[in-house]
Amino acid sequence: QPLLQIRGLRAEIDGKLVLAGVDLDIAAGEVAAIMGPNGSGKSTLAQVLAGRDIYHVTGGSVRYAGMDLLAMPAEERARAGLFLAFQYPVEIPGVSNVYLLKAALNAQRGHQGLPELDAMEFLQKVKALTRELGMDEKFVQRGVNEGFSGGEKKRNEMLQMALLQPRLAILDETDSGLDVDALKAVAQGVNALRAAERAFVLITHYERLLEHIVPDRVHVLWQGRIVTSGGPELARRIEREGYAWLQHGAAEPS
Ligand code: ADP
Ligand code: MG
Ligand code: MG
Repeated sequence: QPLLQIRGLRAEIDGKLVLAGVDLDIAAGEVAAIMGPNGSGKSTLAQVLAGRDIYHVTGGSVRYAGMDLLAMPAEERARAGLFLAFQYPVEIPGVSNVYLLKAALNAQRGHQGLPELDAMEFLQKVKALTRELGMDEKFVQRGVNEGFSGGEKKRNEMLQMALLQPRLAILDETDSGLDVDALKAVAQGVNALRAAERAFVLITHYERLLEHIVPDRVHVLWQGRIVTSGGPELARRIEREGYAWLQHGAAEPS
């Protein structure tokens, strides 16, 4: 029984069909990469799995850890260990990063019936994790996104992830290129957290990230469907040849 089992998933936004029958299995312990050209539905898939309600699921099923994921509200999914890296699109000066991280962790602990961490305990935990992730610990005291570089934003996402210890982490690397520092931050975060009971879904436009995080499986999403799957060599083929070859005999194994 895979950790995540997606069957015939269909979803639309604004009346437009974006996911046209996605079939995908992700096993515990696995790092899966999802690649695909711009507009193929990668971010939509991530958002649908996280339960963002602007997307309308119109068919199919998703089982997660033996549960019917689509029947669960977004907060319950998060509580059940599903993590979608959240990026604040704007700066929130005056709201410190540490404040939001502590709120997120204590909300999760509350749901798990664990006592809240007090400020001291929390700071000790954050300190240890920032060291592990190669972050400056002063960083967490800054305002949310206040003057964060690309690499710092990514380190911050990795810190969220390391704090929350998800069972399934979905990282949607948007199409805007990651600089080298940001790539390293993501790789360091994911590689540090790779574990037998945890799975990652790395959504990425480019192969570059996969030089730093070697995935177990690579899946290509094309016009709302997974059209081919393979090992890391599939990512290298896409880097060399792009996606055009998929148009002819889409499901042909490489
Ligand atoms: P990808 O992440 O692979 O680039 P997306 O999931 O972002 O693809 O988008 C897939 C399709 O859904 C695109 O055609 C896009 O225009 C459409 N789409 C995504 N989000 C929205 C939205 N909020 N409103 C309308 N259309 C959207
Ligand atoms: Mg896009
Ligand atoms: Mg996207």
